[in-house]
Formats: sequence, structure tokens, C-alpha cells
Amino acid sequence: MKHALRALLCVVMLTTFAGRDCSAAITWNLTYTDAAGVGFNDATQGAARRSTLTAVTSYINTVIDANGIIDLEIDSFNNPGSGTLASAGPFVTTAAGFSNGLVFSHATTGVDLAPSLPDGTATFNFGQNFSTGLGAPAANQFDLFSIALHEFSHALGFLSLVTPTGVSAISGTDPGSYSVFDSFLIRGTTGMSLFAAGGDFVGTMADLISNDVFFNGPNARAANGGNPVQVYAPNPFNGGSSISHIVLTDAVMQFSIAPGVARREFSAQELGIFADIGYSVIQPAAVPEPSSYLLLTLVGLSYGAMRRRRRTTPSDSASAA
Ligand SMILES: [Zn+2]
Repeated sequence: MKHALRALLCVVMLTTFAGRDCSAAITWNLTYTDAAGVGFNDATQGAARRSTLTAVTSYINTVIDANGIIDLEIDSFNNPGSGTLASAGPFVTTAAGFSNGLVFSHATTGVDLAPSLPDGTATFNFGQNFSTGLGAPAANQFDLFSIALHEFSHALGFLSLVTPTGVSAISGTDPGSYSVFDSFLIRGTTGMSLFAAGGDFVGTMADLISNDVFFNGPNARAANGGNPVQVYAPNPFNGGSSISHIVLTDAVMQFSIAPGVARREFSAQELGIFADIGYSVIQPAAVPEPSSYLLLTLVGLSYGAMRRRRRTTPSDSASAA
């Protein structure tokens, strides 16, 4: 299905967080579905590629405090002619309201709401020139760690489910199924919310291509000098990238990444966004703990009514930017 949000990616570096309680960490189950000899099961590079993705999950566990499980299905394709580097997303309920999807719910509660499905998926295009291990990427290589960190962030819920018309990409309706991330979007730095309770898009098509959309969660704001964080909202709408990324130098969740660039740690603003959408975030020691971990309790989402879940896959492409 092609409602894919596109985007570009990035990131990492393994930092050990002193004092972290290792008994409370997300258990990541990465299932690689590539055929033998291909992609993540490549005879020469497969093991190192898998190891790099495991390193990404270890980094995420140093900044997100949860003790549930994440089941991710990982695969790849090989298309040198495609500008897409990778794509990923969570399975999300089609019920109207705001939700982060199955990756969030399984990670934070330990409850697998759809045992027959993975919680999310990620796909990489090894037709592009990726680095493999944890060393710095060469000038002509896309950094696998950075891109996996970016993609896994989409799977965690760092994404928009809005389409250019404002209708939900998941349910195809408005009101419909949107992300918790969406629920924090505003027009302008002090403007109106783009969404109302229950998963109701109340913005306009013009808002979505205004270059003037911001994420207004309290933790993100606190990490951004008291200001909302700008969201990528170009004109024309960039399907797969628009609204699901932020505009912030050196951020992991920018819409694009150039070869030779590594973005392997989240910015304070990105950690704020994760806190705003409902994660318990482990702040770097020097930063004061945010006073409010509020938020997000999946407003209006009835899992009892969960029908078919769809996944959304922001696809991230190569960029010269
Ligand atoms: Zn992206």
C-alpha cells in the first residue's frame, strides 16, 4: 500500500548510561526475513549488519526506559535505482483516535495486542551504498546505524499518519486513526492545533504545506528553549517525508541524510518528543528532569475494537542535503 510516508533518515553511538537499571530494558526481538545469502543474511556482511542494528537497540535502551518487548521484522531489497534508503513503521489500529501503534504498546506494557503480527517492520535498500559496522561511514556511504536509529524511531511512534488531504493514512477517514505525534501539531509557533480530540483533523490542506507546522509538546518545548519544534512541511507535500520529521540541525529525525554523515544520538528535542508521546525518557545527566511526563494515554483508542491493523512505512530516501 502506497500511503507510505516518506522521509529520510539518520544516526548513533553507543553510550553507556551510568546508573541505569539494566533490569528494566526493552527486549528487542529482531526477526530477519531475508533469504539466505541476501541482505541481512549476506554471507560476508550480514552478521555485521545485524550487529549494527542490535547496537541501535542498545542505544535506544539507554534513552527510553521501558521493560516490555518489541518484535520487529527486518528485511531488505536491492534497488540501486531507487532513492529510498529504508522505511519502517508500526502496526496501528484503524480505530479513530491518536495512538502510537503496537511497538509502543508492547514496549511499554509488555502486552502484545496482536500476537500474530510483528509490532512493526523495517526495510532497507542495500542497493544504496551503506556502511556496515560501527566505524565512521566513508564519504560515499550512508551510515547504517544512523538510518536504523531513524527508522526504529518511526516504528516507536515518531511519525505522522496524516495525508496531504488531512485524511488518515491508516483508516482513510477523518476523523480517523492518527498518531499521538499528530496530536501535538500546531500551525505556526503559537497557532491552532491541527487536530481535535478523537482523531479529528481540523487543520487545512494549506497548513500541511505551509513550512509552518510545529510540534508543541511540553517536553519538546522545554528542550527547545521554550519554543515548539519545527516539523518538516514543504510545498508540495512530500509523501512519506512531510510532517513525520523535524527541522533541526543534527537531529536524527531530519527528513534526509547525506552520505558520510552519522547522526547516532538523539537531540534533547527529540528526547522531549519521545517523552511527549508517552515514553519514559532517560535524560542525559546534565539535563534537569522534565517535571511533566504527561501525556498520552492513547486518547480515544479502543483496542477492544481494534480491527485490521495496518502498518505505515515512512520511506526514507537518500539526499544530498
Ligand atoms: Zn524518516
